[in-house]
Amino acid sequence: MSKSFDLSAIDKTADPCTDFYQYACGNWVKNNPIPSDQVRWARSFSLLRERNRYLLWEELDAAAKAPKTKLQKQYGSYYAACMDTDQVEKLGLKPIQPAWKLIDRLAGAKQLPALLSKLENQGTPDGFFEFSVGQDEKDSSQQIAEIFQGGLSLPDRDYYIVDSARFKTIRAQYIEHVKKMFTLAGDTPDQAAKEAAAVMEIETAMAKASTSRTDLRQPENRYHIYAVADFQKLAPSFAWSTYFSSIGIGPFDTLNVGTPDYFKALSGLISSQPLQSWKSYLRWHVLHGQANNLPKAFFDENFDFFSRTLAGQQQPQARWKQCSTMTDEALGEAVGQDWVKQNFPPAAKDSMDKLVAALEKSLGDDIKTLPWMSDDTKKAAAEKLAMIRNKIGYPEKWRDYSSVKVKRTDLIGNVHHSAVYERNYNFAKLGKPVDEKEWDMTPPTVNAYYNPSFNDINFPAGILQPPFFDFKIDPAVNFGGIGVVIGHEMTHGFDDEGSQYDGKGNLREWQTPADRKAFTARTDCVAGEYSGFEAAPAKGDTPAQHLNGKLTLGENTADNGGLRIAYMALLDTLASQGKTIGEKIDGYTEAQRYFLGFAQVWCQNQTDQSSRQSALVDPHSPGKWRVNGSVQNFDEFGKAFGCSKGQPMYPVISCRVW
Ligand SMILES: [Zn+2]
Repeated sequence: MSKSFDLSAIDKTADPCTDFYQYACGNWVKNNPIPSDQVRWARSFSLLRERNRYLLWEELDAAAKAPKTKLQKQYGSYYAACMDTDQVEKLGLKPIQPAWKLIDRLAGAKQLPALLSKLENQGTPDGFFEFSVGQDEKDSSQQIAEIFQGGLSLPDRDYYIVDSARFKTIRAQYIEHVKKMFTLAGDTPDQAAKEAAAVMEIETAMAKASTSRTDLRQPENRYHIYAVADFQKLAPSFAWSTYFSSIGIGPFDTLNVGTPDYFKALSGLISSQPLQSWKSYLRWHVLHGQANNLPKAFFDENFDFFSRTLAGQQQPQARWKQCSTMTDEALGEAVGQDWVKQNFPPAAKDSMDKLVAALEKSLGDDIKTLPWMSDDTKKAAAEKLAMIRNKIGYPEKWRDYSSVKVKRTDLIGNVHHSAVYERNYNFAKLGKPVDEKEWDMTPPTVNAYYNPSFNDINFPAGILQPPFFDFKIDPAVNFGGIGVVIGHEMTHGFDDEGSQYDGKGNLREWQTPADRKAFTARTDCVAGEYSGFEAAPAKGDTPAQHLNGKLTLGENTADNGGLRIAYMALLDTLASQGKTIGEKIDGYTEAQRYFLGFAQVWCQNQTDQSSRQSALVDPHSPGKWRVNGSVQNFDEFGKAFGCSKGQPMYPVISCRVW
């Protein structure tokens, strides 16, 4: 297990005031190349993820061999079916043939709504769009139908539409990949080439009509309530009522159309594309959607393009790793019940409660002393803060998976049943009261989240482990680890996106116009700063890739706020013990240990390809900028390391929101 505080990671030849990330992580980065089955290798996250997954695997493996309970039988069989690659080879394409037969029988575009609903009722992915039930952005107590753009196979719309040498090459490689997959499935090279061209044409048109990730971060851009009848007028080529009435959801009159332009374009596309092209597109999404669960030839070809070419991964993960992850995704709250018994003692929850309370207090103090905010807005912010609910470890009540049929000999069948279960679980929420106790992450997950509609912060047991959460270490390091994570999630309630929701989780302005203006000037400062950071350096003919400061604005704001308020909470905690910051351990003051503990969470290596992909799709900045961006905006850092004003990590002018 990786240590919370690691002297051997430090590069003493670097100057902490010039490049703190290099100082805190330089030796670790040099000595820890990316393992061949990964695209990113992070000192804390990756090692803890591997550990949690290994512990999960021990349970799955035992349950597959000798289940003792009903739950163990279910998840043990799910895991066993995934591990049985002989059976996967034997079945070949048989598990997807029923879907392909349905697609073959499509006689005209008018039948698309009936066909899509049939495919989805069997758990088969089909592209086109994302339909689900979610909380109404403006009345979080209501659960409504919502529909969003979708339909792409490449990681982002930019891959289809950006005019650069790199993306042109990727597009040509993608077409080759689609061709190969169809050829493996038995089509002639000619047929496969035609099909690949049709897939590319349709997906490109969908990409052009898609809203960018950056624009979608603005809640107003994804909120458009339509009567079903008006939606039908917006996108007339698809019989929406037929579709809605055949997918097993209750009746509704209005829905949120997240991306109206997409549906307008999709409707045009449905009426203009030949029937044969739609068949190719649908066949592709069925094949692509199950590529990882098909025989090795399909798995390998899919890996070669999506993981090796696009992300720089050299080797697939061992099958046991893939199957453990997959079982966690499908039956996470079943496996998780046993997992937390082993890995999350009740005492850990009490300690977390205390830490969260300390962070709440310091964010409250921070709000009170903000120089740019009026008293009215401070009051509203304090109210919102007081309403944040904390969820720690695992759900109070577990989901019931008993209706998910699992067979030891049918991997894809299990995946289908799980997909249908998830969909029906989601559809059943329509018009019902919101379940505030629900979790979006499974217990062994090494992550945490803030949900603006719930106004809650969630910390799965998986991240409440060393090196993040470690009571054997001094408080400075613990606050630099889990303290910053807690502060980060709380600050999300007040970042550029989260701040547009009130304490009840409704999209409603609670800042005065003048305060909102000051707030935006401050977030613009952060966005501009991070846009200047390089995510990947220039390589050969490929230019450097910069971060998108607007896409990463919420995360960067949360990092900056988290670092500041966890530091304040550390000072409070030391003061309550009659101490001040200054005591040295291992030659570092507590303040220095706090910043080092924080930075060492983010030591990482990442492939060039994956860095470039992340810069387009990941709202988080890479480790280097999570560290350097945050410390250079917080003067206490420069003071702790005795930097001179004007050095890179202690600039004269810096950005601050919270
Ligand atoms: Zn975050």
